Amino acid sequence: MSEEVILTVSDLVTAFDTEAGLIHAVEGVSFDVKKGHTLGLVGESGCGKSVTALSIMRLLPQPVGKILGGQVLFQAEDIIKLPAERMHHIRGFGISMIFQEPMTALNPVHRIGDQIREVFQLHYPEMTDKDIGAQSIEMLKKVGIPEPVQRMEEYPHQISGGTRQRVMIAMALAGKPDILIADEPTTALDVTIQAQILDLMKALQQETGMAIIFITHALGVIAEICDDVLVMYAGTVAERASAVELFKNPRHPYTMGLLSSIPRLEGIRKTHLNTIRGMVPSLYDLPDGCRFQNRCPYVMPGCQIEPPALRVVGDEDHVASCYLYLN
Ligand code: SF4
Repeated sequence: MSEEVILTVSDLVTAFDTEAGLIHAVEGVSFDVKKGHTLGLVGESGCGKSVTALSIMRLLPQPVGKILGGQVLFQAEDIIKLPAERMHHIRGFGISMIFQEPMTALNPVHRIGDQIREVFQLHYPEMTDKDIGAQSIEMLKKVGIPEPVQRMEEYPHQISGGTRQRVMIAMALAGKPDILIADEPTTALDVTIQAQILDLMKALQQETGMAIIFITHALGVIAEICDDVLVMYAGTVAERASAVELFKNPRHPYTMGLLSSIPRLEGIRKTHLNTIRGMVPSLYDLPDGCRFQNRCPYVMPGCQIEPPALRVVGDEDHVASCYLYLN
């Protein structure tokens, strides 16, 4: 598999203007995305995973969402500085995104066929109507939708949640993007359909060589599909490593807590699952120093002074932000 880096996010800072003032939802987040690889962004709700993705797509809610700092390098261009027209081209052709609930992204009053045709018209204005129709059917077939000609005539409410998600994937891949960002795409689906969608994404990745940024709160899904993992906590990076290394050798106390809260089939059966005590701090009222301090079983006096920087803690790509690894 190629190790070519196609997206580099450096020191990203994203904030929202609220009635209570400016809150930083993402603070100094950095990572690389490699061609043909899947990077998992994992963490609890509100940890900044989706805001990171929306910042990359420049789709933050306006006028409240703002990128205050950092760089998002895609094909030698800093996405943050691109004019709107260039960004419009990158969305779809360069980077596409699918969401948790396709019903919110599909238009309920338009037929599936009209919606997928519209994507082709937008990306390939030179294509004839006949070619667009044929390509639309081909895309639906590619994502495993049976009887695609019939599906084209149906409305979103007439098809199942799993089929709607397949339609979204077909629309996202119509422009042959280099990167697909999938924001909790399987969370609303039952487990059998979840597994089918993950298999489909892996198969399409092998065929096209695209990179995937997979956002999830479920570590089980990370183990299933990801090559590399970024663990986020309260808007910051807690740990970053290859998936194999992270599961074998978690170093940040938050990652350790997440891993120990996964139910396991082997070993002694317990009546209660492990949980991480306490709550994520509010972005309106963040503590000085480490943001995980109120929940950390290893908290030390120095943890309350300065936020810990990311440090190498394992093989050279394995980093964590924790004072336990100061030396
Ligand atoms: Fe825990 Fe301190 Fe490490 Fe934060 S820096 S995770 S509080 S040990």
